[in-house]
Amino acid sequence: MSFAFDPANITLPGAHFIGGAYVSGPAAIEIRSPSTGQVLGSIPCGDAALVDHAVQTARAALVESNWGGVAPRDRLRALCAWADLIEAEAQTLAALEAVCSSRPYKQALAGDVITTAEQIRFFAEFADKEGGVLAPVADSSFAYIADGPYGVIGAITPWNFPMSMAAWKLGPALAAGNAVVLKPSEMTPYSTLYLAELSVRAGMPAGLINVVLGDGPVTGTAITGHPGIDKVSFTGSTRAGGAIMENIARTGIKPMTLELGGKSPMVVFADADLDVAADGLEKGIMPNAGQFCVAGSRMIIAREIADELADKLKARFARYRPANTFADDAAFSPIISETQLVRIDRIVQAAAGQGGEMLCGGGRFDHEGSFYQPTLIAGVDSDNPAIREEIFGPVATFQTFESEDEAMSLASHPTYGLCAGLFTRDLSRAMRLTRRLEAGTVWVNRYGRTRDHILPTNGWKASGLGHDLGREAYHANRRKKSVLIDL
Ligand code: NAD
Repeated sequence: MSFAFDPANITLPGAHFIGGAYVSGPAAIEIRSPSTGQVLGSIPCGDAALVDHAVQTARAALVESNWGGVAPRDRLRALCAWADLIEAEAQTLAALEAVCSSRPYKQALAGDVITTAEQIRFFAEFADKEGGVLAPVADSSFAYIADGPYGVIGAITPWNFPMSMAAWKLGPALAAGNAVVLKPSEMTPYSTLYLAELSVRAGMPAGLINVVLGDGPVTGTAITGHPGIDKVSFTGSTRAGGAIMENIARTGIKPMTLELGGKSPMVVFADADLDVAADGLEKGIMPNAGQFCVAGSRMIIAREIADELADKLKARFARYRPANTFADDAAFSPIISETQLVRIDRIVQAAAGQGGEMLCGGGRFDHEGSFYQPTLIAGVDSDNPAIREEIFGPVATFQTFESEDEAMSLASHPTYGLCAGLFTRDLSRAMRLTRRLEAGTVWVNRYGRTRDHILPTNGWKASGLGHDLGREAYHANRRKKSVLIDL
């Protein structure tokens, strides 16, 4: 099937969306297409006053609509109507996603839009199925744990899967009865704005979703430090997560969820099915050109199968070719910006300077847009920058091991603990090592999420604090109250 969507016909929403209407501001940040380098438009950068207006609007919408107090089934119905409209508007949403992000149009259409609608429905279902619980106490007392919404959630999302990241925040927050002030990445604002517009068109109260545009230091800081924000929910880099913690500590303690960076290992034992392993390793680093938090950017391979597996990977990686995001055959993601591409290359060259051997790739593609070659680096030790730093590109290190203990020692990262992959046909080894791997998610004989929204994601170490997805994400948007009554 060919998608005859003409990108020239897309209207790009370049203003904040507050209280159900677009609110313009002076142009401040240029938006570019990473697959062509073309400037697409610009967006304003919301200041503290603008953020304050959005927070007051969210609070007023909560009061006026009684969103947190209506029958939970009404929230469920409203969110499902929104999800239906998201699917009906799939082509426009996918185009708004693809035009400025690293997501190729066809993947955004067949994957990201569908997942977004699914995730909103998934969280809507919790609205009337999860709630306060009775607590067992002595017969002379009666106790229960009540729960209710926080109020206004301040959400901040990254550029790598803009629509899906917005759904991770909006779905549970709204199902749980909150309003949201959301700041998308300043590089990829369009699909989030349109999601908010669709919520109002689907009949949800205006002012429940307010999208404030701008950068991290100005707009993001104004959100996380605002006294009217009852909880912060952030997805992005560990560096920005640390800055947010500091700002929250400085401006008044409030709860926060932080989903941060990763440097996840994929460990392959000699008894693994090597085709299954090659498939898993490719899925661990190549989707979105490695620009995903759970990327398996450190391959750790049993020495006796290393050459064979490296050959399989090189053949697979050679298939990736740059293309305009709207081209029929576009399947390989551009790097989000020239700045990010230069940073990737700097780490790769530094890795080579410290003894790294390029098994393939190692530079940018000679093509319009910001495309980096799929790259495998062998011969690196734990001090190498390619091991230490989250690269966020189609670049993986390739280390070998002789024993199970050595594999586990290489897998353990001093900073990150987001995910891990394990490839083996030995069930007892798989069960034993899933316990040892220091990560919030472990995949065995596969790598990456499927449409398994029930499984929460949470980082260990500096990869995060709290949960997204799963039942846990719904509860993370409800605050608890223990009640004990003497009879
Ligand atoms: P980033 O941290 O640079 O930016 C993320 C968002 O935070 C943007 O909206 C940005 O404007 C904002 N921001 C930046 N500094 C801020 C500050 N001081 N205060 C408030 N807001 C601030 O990250 P990015 O480059 O957009 O995204 C890539 C990163 O996100 C990677 O590190 C990746 O691992 C991480 N990520 C994590 C998950 C997860 O679930 N753990 C999912 C996706 C991405």
